[in-house]
Amino acid sequence: MKPKSENSRVNPHSAETPLLAVRNLKTWFPIKRGLFSMTAGHVRAVDDVSFIISRNETLGLVGESGCGKTTLGRTLLGLERATAGDILFDGTSISTLGRRQMNRLRRHIQVVFQDPMSSLNPRMNVMDIITEGLEQFGMIEGSKQEHAARLLGEVGMSPDAVFRYPHEFSGGQRQRISIARALSLKPDLIICDEAVSALDVSVQAQVINLLLGLQKGHRLSYLFISHDLSVVSNIADRVAVMYLGQIVEIGKTSDIVQNPLHPYTRALIAAVPVAGGKKIEDNVVRGEAPSPASPPEGCRFHPRCPEVMAVCRRVPPAELDRDGRKVTCHLYEQPAAMHGRS
Ligand code: SF4
Repeated sequence: MKPKSENSRVNPHSAETPLLAVRNLKTWFPIKRGLFSMTAGHVRAVDDVSFIISRNETLGLVGESGCGKTTLGRTLLGLERATAGDILFDGTSISTLGRRQMNRLRRHIQVVFQDPMSSLNPRMNVMDIITEGLEQFGMIEGSKQEHAARLLGEVGMSPDAVFRYPHEFSGGQRQRISIARALSLKPDLIICDEAVSALDVSVQAQVINLLLGLQKGHRLSYLFISHDLSVVSNIADRVAVMYLGQIVEIGKTSDIVQNPLHPYTRALIAAVPVAGGKKIEDNVVRGEAPSPASPPEGCRFHPRCPEVMAVCRRVPPAELDRDGRKVTCHLYEQPAAMHGRS
């Protein structure tokens, strides 16, 4: 069952309704100080982020560590509370849902984390791990073992694994078990948070091929969060580049990789040739990233930007449509708009 809330539903289930629409989302964390724990400020981990994910689409979300991408994923999963903005799933604003409707929604959005060793209960066997959610949602018909064996088959593992425990498997196999668990609830969207980052390159490729195959078979959508642009470029239809809590560029993967517009995206691509299969490491751009508790005035990237102009230090750039993608940078404003700002 999909969540129902007629007041907030926008043309539900139509082909045009994005599976996920995020509008002006903010997730801020208060900074408490002093004897009485007064709020002295906020860490703006996610700060006015908007994007959509269509059905059967993969959106890659890339950026340096600390840019807010994991907090964004956790907010979508309901693990962090949004400070402002809206999240629409299948046309329904989740802020309008009651607890029971929210619980029902949870099965449609699943997650695969980076470290399966810490996300799989070491005291549970594979059958119980994979079918735990099915039991919670009362979705088991027939035997648990049959369900678990079928799901293991979907992720390329032997049904004999059902009675074994997580420590008996390799990292790649454990991640396949995590994927089987996510798949068990027949989700529409899976958030993959650094899901292949801890794996060897050859195993990464196998898991990505598995995710691509499952996407076709189940019409899944993915939000693929990673610091590894080469991995993202192998799986994502579109890429969103995040810097200090905000998306600075979003567009088709081929456009982003071959012709990055934003100076931050350009720096990432230049420092990390995708063909070389290298990762986005911290500090690939000159200088340290400022704190999300006190982001710079104007463009947040200006202290590190090689193309900074006077206007960048004072005025936050607006998001612009440019060549079929969105970029947030003064470089792409019309000369008339720039006039008088510098
Ligand atoms: Fe650089 Fe200015 Fe563009 Fe920011 S707005 S990325 S500082 S050129």
